Amino acid sequence: MSYKWCAVPQCENTSIKTPEKLFVNVPRQSKMRKKWLQMAGRDPKDVKSNSHIYFCEDHFNIAKDMANYSQYKMGFSQRILVKDDVVPSKFDCQISRLKRTNDKNLSPTSDIKRHKKTSNRMTKKLV
Ligand SMILES: [Zn+2]
Repeated sequence: MSYKWCAVPQCENTSIKTPEKLFVNVPRQSKMRKKWLQMAGRDPKDVKSNSHIYFCEDHFNIAKDMANYSQYKMGFSQRILVKDDVVPSKFDCQISRLKRTNDKNLSPTSDIKRHKKTSNRMTKKLV
C-alpha cells in the first residue's frame, strides 16, 4: 500500500500513523478540488493541480458521503468513492485554530504571551 497523508492543515493522520482510517482522493477535477482545498483552509494555488492528495475520513460524514461505503466495508470495492457533489465538512482538528482567532479579539495580550510560549516549545522540539 502506498503512503498516504491527510492534506488538511492541522490534521496529522497518515496511513502509517492511523492505518485504520480511510483516505479519500481529492478530486482531480479543478472546480471540486478547489472547493475541497478551500474548505480545509488551504490555498489551492499551493497544491499542484495534478498531484495525488488525500483527505482522511475525519473530514467526512463517511457513511453518508461515500458512494460505495458498504461495499468497501464488506471488501467488494478496493477503493472508496466519494459522491460527486460531496465536499469535506468536518474539521475538528482545526478547532484550536478557530479558538485562537476568537481569543485574539477578546484579549490581544494573552494571545501574544501564548504565542511566545508556543514558539519556545517549537524551538525546543527542533533541538
Ligand atoms: Zn485528516
